[in-house]
Amino acid sequence: MSDIASNIISLKQQIPSSVKLVAVSKTKSVTEIVEAYNTGHRVFGENRVMELISKKDLLPDDIEWHYVGHLQTNKVKLLVPFISLIHSVDSFKLLRAINAEALKINRIVYCLLQFHIAKEETKYGFSMNEVIDMISSEEFRQLQSVQLCGVMGMATFTDDEKLIREEFRYLTGCFKVLKEKYFPEEICFKEISMGMSGDIKIAIEEGSTIVRIGSIIFGERS
Ligand SMILES: *Cc1c(COP(=O)(O)O)cnc(C)c1O
Repeated sequence: MSDIASNIISLKQQIPSSVKLVAVSKTKSVTEIVEAYNTGHRVFGENRVMELISKKDLLPDDIEWHYVGHLQTNKVKLLVPFISLIHSVDSFKLLRAINAEALKINRIVYCLLQFHIAKEETKYGFSMNEVIDMISSEEFRQLQSVQLCGVMGMATFTDDEKLIREEFRYLTGCFKVLKEKYFPEEICFKEISMGMSGDIKIAIEEGSTIVRIGSIIFGERS
């Protein structure tokens, strides 16, 4: 068995079956993705639109593709026809653009709101106040072709486990407030996408429902 196959099998044995695993295959080849696919895994994530499109065409149709990277509005129309979940909605403008393209092809696109939870300046995402402003607006209520399924966040890249845990706990807290106050009737609103190779254990302890894992499965990226 290949390293990739054994890595993904042992990872799945370690995470609760209630937590969804997205195998983040960015920078990895189609051959490497097939090694993971052949173990029965079907959920893959990418963070560049053009890379995703070019790989997708060479891979089986039953892969569930997730988009986890920053998304420019001018690339939305390329993803909307097939994407299973966009984890990285980080502005109202982007959500509007997704809605507009989805409406054109009569599709509902499932999305998560990305929160800025890290100390780093560079990470994209909403603050809780920005999310509340958006979802309280009349314009938001008019969006009929997007379905919000929950939240996503990336912790600070650090060895400080206490900080990582605080950031994940904050994201779970935001999710709970949104669920209770704004989406109590929406069964779909249930996902907390947090946890990468370096912080998966803490993320699961803090309530993650989706983990996005690259290096543990495919090895370090160059
Ligand atoms: C690359 C990436 C991951 C996976 O990172 P690893 O540390 O390799 O597990 C997860 N989420 C996002 C948004 C990424 O860009």
